Amino acid sequence: MLYSQNEEELLKIGEKIGSKLQKQDILVLTGDLGAGKTTLTKGIAKGLEIHQMIKSPTYTIVREYEGRLPLYHLDVYRIGDDPDSIDLDDFIYGEGVAVIEWGELLDQTLLDDYLEIVITRFGDGRKLSFEPHGSRSQVLKEALDNG
Ligand code: ADP
Ligand code: MG
Repeated sequence: MLYSQNEEELLKIGEKIGSKLQKQDILVLTGDLGAGKTTLTKGIAKGLEIHQMIKSPTYTIVREYEGRLPLYHLDVYRIGDDPDSIDLDDFIYGEGVAVIEWGELLDQTLLDDYLEIVITRFGDGRKLSFEPHGSRSQVLKEALDNG
């Protein structure tokens, strides 16, 4: 469990996460509208040495960025009713990492190992908890919990 008091601290946590990612890592970001999923992704992008501006992919479903590793930033909120409208294999199992906002709306059996990051409001701040779903994401969780 990590706590961020403000947006700046959330960006820093994201940056740390980004610096630890390896190719084919999958992060599922869970939290309601305005929780900070896109903000966290901006920090992750910085940790991946991405210099482009990260824009919410809500209307485009996916945006791709180039950094230390390619980042596929997905927001699947709008395909909730029709999961078949996207072929996830285009974005995972490649050279890059995938960060999926609203990933809990997907059929999770499509993802064989992913770290779920649950963001919840706590006063003006946010709490983050890491829930691994597989062996690689367990290693990643431990790396994050141990700083
Ligand atoms: P999501 O992608 O989950 O819908 P965003 O990252 O787009 O959320 O938006 C989070 C909003 O909450 C931003 O407008 C940000 O300025 C605001 N905010 C307020 N307090 C915090 C905090 N402690 N951590 C992160 N964001 C915060
Ligand atoms: Mg968002």
